[in-house]
Amino acid sequence: MHTTALVLFSGGQDSTTCLAQALTRYQRVETIAFDYRQRHSVELDARLRVLEQLRLQFPQWAPRLGQDHLLDLGVLGQVSETSLTRDMAFKIESSGLPNTFVPGRNLLFLTLAAALAYRRDLQVLVTGVCETDFSGYPDCRDDTIKAMQLALSLGMDKRFLIDTPLMWIDKADTWRLAHTLGGDPLIELIVEHTHTCYLGERSHRHAWGYGCGSCPACELRARGHQRFVAGR
Ligand code: ZN
Repeated sequence: MHTTALVLFSGGQDSTTCLAQALTRYQRVETIAFDYRQRHSVELDARLRVLEQLRLQFPQWAPRLGQDHLLDLGVLGQVSETSLTRDMAFKIESSGLPNTFVPGRNLLFLTLAAALAYRRDLQVLVTGVCETDFSGYPDCRDDTIKAMQLALSLGMDKRFLIDTPLMWIDKADTWRLAHTLGGDPLIELIVEHTHTCYLGERSHRHAWGYGCGSCPACELRARGHQRFVAGR
């Protein structure tokens, strides 16, 4: 029986939904994020706000929500040049992957998360990766995650479980899952406080939250929200 978890928590819609689910499932939940000098710190600010609001608005979850960890991963900027870390326009490369792709980034995240989980004695790693996403990042696919679960468990001689609640669902279902977990208050918290937009835009609030409205992340979030609202 698993009772403790470490959630890879970026402050976006997906990882906030994963965190909410972890708080309903596990007795002790900690969070981790990585600062790799994204073009804007909007996400890092969002995650602190989300943690604060979860504690305030969901007193039943607050006692389970433990330490938050932020790891400096500036080294990622030395090995990759992408539109997330440099001032470049977003586009789809000839490989079919968006130029936001940082090769192996998620492998690195999971490895560091497992090392921390080992030290903190946490059994489950929770991540909001998704195979149905537009991006198709190869290190977010189910096969990769299963291979990582095995590699980390063998390599650290400790049995880790990697929990991926969003792997097979689309964005509308992610909104539905949040509603099932925390009702309208959680939906409102996600709309108001989480951040998904690639451009770090937070000047205009749409029905689905803040963002430029036209980058791939905003489009995906907006479309999912539209279908979620239409289906209620
Ligand atoms: Zn955007």
